[in-house]
Amino acid sequence: MNLYNIKHPEEQVNFAQAVRQGLGKDQGLFFPEVIPALDNIDELLALPLVERSQKILGALIGEEIPAEKLNTMVKNAFTFPAPVAKVEEGVYALELFHGPTLAFKDFGGRFMAQALATVRGDGKITILTATSGDTGAAVAHAFYGLENIDVVILYPQGKISPLQEKLFCTLGGNIRTVAINADFDACQALVKQAFDDEELRRAIGLNSANSINISRLLAQVCYYFEAAAQLSPSERSNLVVSVPSGNFGNLTAGLIAKTLGLPIKRFIASTNANDTVPRYLAKGKWEPNATVATLSNAMDVSRPNNWPRVEELFKRNGWALSELHSGAVSDAQTEETLRDMNAKGYLCEPHGAIAYRVLKQDLQAGETGLFLCTAHPAKFKESVERILNTQLPLPQALAKHAELPLLSDVMENDFAALRAYLLKK
Ligand SMILES: *Cc1c(COP(=O)(O)O)cnc(C)c1O
Repeated sequence: MNLYNIKHPEEQVNFAQAVRQGLGKDQGLFFPEVIPALDNIDELLALPLVERSQKILGALIGEEIPAEKLNTMVKNAFTFPAPVAKVEEGVYALELFHGPTLAFKDFGGRFMAQALATVRGDGKITILTATSGDTGAAVAHAFYGLENIDVVILYPQGKISPLQEKLFCTLGGNIRTVAINADFDACQALVKQAFDDEELRRAIGLNSANSINISRLLAQVCYYFEAAAQLSPSERSNLVVSVPSGNFGNLTAGLIAKTLGLPIKRFIASTNANDTVPRYLAKGKWEPNATVATLSNAMDVSRPNNWPRVEELFKRNGWALSELHSGAVSDAQTEETLRDMNAKGYLCEPHGAIAYRVLKQDLQAGETGLFLCTAHPAKFKESVERILNTQLPLPQALAKHAELPLLSDVMENDFAALRAYLLKK
């Protein structure tokens, strides 16, 4: 697989380099040079998730990773289903939250971990990351048990929910978690300091497992096929897909699926009040505002870092940007939509509700609508319980960890102490 840096197309790398490096020169994003058109879509759709995904990723990544290896990576990463649920006539939810940390990021995160373990080369790797909750859990579970990869996750002590902490600070093994006696920004600053320390970086093979990593996007392509596979041929012939978007990685993956030949009529980019993209699509001007906090906080992004990949695909495929529909939803509308969905018998959370609402506004007669549910309702327990005036049971994935003892180390906001800690093992 050949990839180029969108900012500096002369910088070219293979899949292994792109996975190891994350970003190119000037923070440029890597993008595949060729996305092959698959001519056997119906045959693919007839296969089970893992087998189909092995074929899709094999076509994308090519000979660089031997099929046998790739198949193992996919099998180890995709260990949970992505079911489609019917919400009402002609409207379906793709539930991407049945993984170990209850969010769609498990798909990308787990495949990236497998990819990194495969292309790492010799030497030690230490993944160092700071988290305010969600990312840490996804990274910890994705890398748990992988040989010769150490993971160190910093988080602000007492500033994440106790349940959130239980989810990733009870694993042990190659996962070390450190409660820093400071806030999240201080944790991030410590991580940055570590990456700036060339000697440390080399000594322990520091890697960020960055969210911009191309391996994540490739993995996410697979669940768009899984959604289509669960619909009838007539439903998928007129399919409109609404994606709740923050950094626009999820939408990019959907567009790659369409480029591969998956018949999706159009996509809808759905956002909260952080509406840089809907305004850009309406007026042609890129004018990010200051980021505002919303109920759908995983989408509180005003400068979406995958947007250049979206534009690159439209340009390369000769698609008009006007084919991409969009809409922004306020918190008040999100609450109203959650109640409306609940009355229809579907329990959702803020991110999925936004995608549902914009889909309903956009859908035309005769079309089938699909919206992506990116997180389990229990992940946003406090808001969902308040808005719906109900109690949510703890899902099994959380309940299991809630009973285990915390294994975190505690540390002051002190780089020298962190450095010694990292070098110790
Ligand atoms: C990360 C996230 C999103 C946004 O996805 P992008 O790929 O960044 O657009 C939406 N919903 C949830 C629950 C998320 O965690």
